[in-house]
Amino acid sequence: MLRKSVLLTTCFVLLTVLVTLSISRIFNSDREYRETIYVFGTLVDIVIRGETVQKSREATSEIARVFKRVHVDWHAWKSGGELNELNEALARDEDKEISDELIWLLKTSQRLTIQSEGLFEPAIGNLIAAWGFHSDISPQGVPPTNKTILKLADTSPSLQDLVFDGHTVRSSKTSVRIDLGAVAKGAALDLAADVLKRRGIENAVLNAGGDLNVLGKYKARAWKVAIRDPTSWNAIASIDMRPGEVLYTSGNYERYLEHNGVRFSHILDPRTGYPVNDIISASVLHTKGMVADAAATALAVAGPEDWARIAWRMNVKLALLVDSRGRLYITPAMERRLKLLKVATDIFIVEPTNVTYGTEY
Ligand code: ADP
Ligand code: MG
Repeated sequence: MLRKSVLLTTCFVLLTVLVTLSISRIFNSDREYRETIYVFGTLVDIVIRGETVQKSREATSEIARVFKRVHVDWHAWKSGGELNELNEALARDEDKEISDELIWLLKTSQRLTIQSEGLFEPAIGNLIAAWGFHSDISPQGVPPTNKTILKLADTSPSLQDLVFDGHTVRSSKTSVRIDLGAVAKGAALDLAADVLKRRGIENAVLNAGGDLNVLGKYKARAWKVAIRDPTSWNAIASIDMRPGEVLYTSGNYERYLEHNGVRFSHILDPRTGYPVNDIISASVLHTKGMVADAAATALAVAGPEDWARIAWRMNVKLALLVDSRGRLYITPAMERRLKLLKVATDIFIVEPTNVTYGTEY
């Protein structure tokens, strides 16, 4: 009799636990936690789904600490951070001991520079400063003179000039000034995604003004995101993101120098020292934020003739570019994934390839 009642009580307790667990699961799976954190001049919206407030809050607090640290350490022009100290040492022709994290960032960037044939080139910090883009807001004033630009571009500073010896780094050229503006956001969001994964958070989006990393799903469906039309505030296309994917866009519509009615983009062609103007927006879908961020910049520099080769070299299979005449260039894999929302007359579907097409567009 006693055994029977113990058994019944155990069953009841088990049932209660099961019901409570599944109710909390249903409740949690619909729960959405949102927080906004500032890094590198951008607000990053973090959306976490299906977790308790406490777990989400602890994760975003850790991300806030990471962002605060890298905002200082990877900053291109503000003093006090590790990269800035390295730049000062390189300009004095001195070597410098740097952290594991900065070594990782620089070596990964160096590899991306080589793959992009030098079109993604973070060593052109002096050129970027000369154009006035070492500022949190779009610069005012006059563009630098041809003489200044030629002088800075002529030395062809490159991350390939860096020489690593354990934790010590030096440069074979004093003209190397590292500006990680084209990858820092991607690298920071990758670190943030790692924090979420390590804490067992499965479904989330980290969105830095349209550059984003996605984890898992939105309810049972994919996270749906939009690519902004560079010529308006509308969306040019929408995409259902797969778990673990990232989408990064480089464009000249947000940061530029305007002088006498001419807009100079903040993306520079390292070969000439001048801003790019053929491509007004380049988007890359990938699985690594840092790669997508660097590749979007490199494809914008490569322009209509060379982007398909650079995409091939950087192992980018999904890309969408818009040129200054409103023409769209889309890889076949990207075309299969996106839903175009804008009516465009000229759409070129181009496979990434090691062959240069010349001027056939
Ligand atoms: P966004 O800031 O809009 O995401 P990007 O990722 O393309 O755009 O980064 C642009 C920034 O990268 C510039 O503000 C500048 O600091 C730096 N930059 C400009 N041109 C290049 C280049 N060719 N290679 C590497 N970095 C660049
Ligand atoms: Mg970029």
